[in-house]
Amino acid sequence: MRKSIATVSVSGTLTEKLEAVAAAGFDGVEIFENDLLTCPLPPEEIRSRAADLGLTIEMYQPFRDFEAMPELDLRRAERKFQLMERLGAGLLLVCSNVSPRAVDDDDLAAEQLRLLAERAAGHGIRIAYEALAWGRYVNEYLHSWRIVRMADHPNLGVCLDSFHILSRGSDPIGIEAIPGEKIFFLQLADAPLLAMDVLQWSRHYRCFPGQGSFDVAGLLTHVRNAGYTGPLSLEVFNDHFRQADAHRTAVDAMRSLVALEGSAHPAEPPTGFAFAELAAPRDPAGLRDLLTALGFARSGAHGSKPVELWEQGRARLLLNRTGEEAALAAIGLESPEPADAVKRAESLLAPVLPRERAPREAPLDAIAAPDATQIFLCRTAQPYGWREDFTQDGPAAGPAAGGITHLDHVALAQPWHYFDEAELFYRSVLGLTPQESLEFPDPYGLLRSKAMTGPAGGPRMVLNVAQVGAGQAPSQHVALACDDILAIARRLRAERPDLLLPIPGNYYDDLEARHEVDPALRELGVLYDRDEDGEFLHLYTITVGRVFFEVVQRVGGYHGYGAVNAPVRLAVQHAHAH
Ligand code: MG
Ligand code: MG
Repeated sequence: MRKSIATVSVSGTLTEKLEAVAAAGFDGVEIFENDLLTCPLPPEEIRSRAADLGLTIEMYQPFRDFEAMPELDLRRAERKFQLMERLGAGLLLVCSNVSPRAVDDDDLAAEQLRLLAERAAGHGIRIAYEALAWGRYVNEYLHSWRIVRMADHPNLGVCLDSFHILSRGSDPIGIEAIPGEKIFFLQLADAPLLAMDVLQWSRHYRCFPGQGSFDVAGLLTHVRNAGYTGPLSLEVFNDHFRQADAHRTAVDAMRSLVALEGSAHPAEPPTGFAFAELAAPRDPAGLRDLLTALGFARSGAHGSKPVELWEQGRARLLLNRTGEEAALAAIGLESPEPADAVKRAESLLAPVLPRERAPREAPLDAIAAPDATQIFLCRTAQPYGWREDFTQDGPAAGPAAGGITHLDHVALAQPWHYFDEAELFYRSVLGLTPQESLEFPDPYGLLRSKAMTGPAGGPRMVLNVAQVGAGQAPSQHVALACDDILAIARRLRAERPDLLLPIPGNYYDDLEARHEVDPALRELGVLYDRDEDGEFLHLYTITVGRVFFEVVQRVGGYHGYGAVNAPVRLAVQHAHAH
């Protein structure tokens, strides 16, 4: 289907918006009146600018407070039709009346809209009538359709807007009763579920499909079943997008439509972690020390790059001695068919990173996530496994008794204004499912966190909003799974207590009040959580550079990440950093 976006959805001047939208691959735009009013170019020039960029002007909007008025005013409409002819726009959005002067009279509304459509026809223009969720008398899409049917004019149809329909909790199944040719336009927006005034909700919190909680895909199915063949058009009012880089927002927007439409290249989602890669100083003594204490052994070195492979069980860590401060730089995801995974990523506008590789090295494709983490889509097993690029120079990793078995999750810091973009990226490109969004206090403010999980046994990621300001705590970590955390904690406490993050006694006083727990937890500095499905025990190491490690043990079917304990961890890290 053709893809369109309202100019209000991205930042900048009208010409900047058009360029950004065209660059992201959109076919058309809805021109918002306000963007036109503030543009120094005459309508003819805007029209040719759009045409040069390959953009169709799908609709001009909005035309407000017209129908069901005590007196008919076609003069204002006539001026807009003349403007639209100069602009080359053939469709005008009329949204339902919010004026206190409007009359609760469907017959009058239908009659006036019929006269408007008749006048529009003289200019070759059509009218799309939209029920605003806060319209004075018309605020349900089936009501706007009733009026359009009563008016019975070929140049009058409805505009459906997923926000107005879903924010009111209306059942979108009724869309299927509207003949496709009478649905003149479809506007799509998602939104988080918020208990607030619907107008404020709409003006500030709309987001792209897949970034909120509405079933936009379900609504689209009904619209398709009705026989609609027009464009999918995003109409998003969002305080963040209004400030963000227009090109970046336009790409995010296009990704949401490709994902919604289901037209991305198909690929099996990743089945787990192949590795986590840490950027490291040239002499990574601190990291080597920490890994050794955790039971890892260096098992290999890259054939052509300063990269070391450290292993324990199925947990694999790469130290890439780039000379930078230690940080989580990349993750390798076990992909059943890496070539398909890369094609999927490309079809969802993920930047594919150019790789330098020696002639005999395995193909290893990486994409850049919005947070700049590199995601390798790869295979550990031979042939063409990524390990073939490493020569073994240490003991082969075997499952050590009571040791680390595999990577449980990685936590990635997200710039706050790209959080929704990141969620949609990980969801659409990698097939991860977002879990509940959590917010908890830390010494810097409120930390927002959302876990994203793959199918059973697949990768788990926790996205955290990065704190702003000086002295911030690191929010990147690699969590390592084990079967006996008390044994690991005991060994670390005996051999390297300096590497463990100390946990305050007050935490254990509270924990023991809430749960019957092993007194060894207090003694060893192990944190604890439980839910209806199981238990979670975890401990943290000190931070090296910008990264730290977590050791976790899941008991039973616990699916969380010990988020209840995160404020304690953050407060201790804060104290340690100062
Ligand atoms: Mg709308
Ligand atoms: Mg964690």
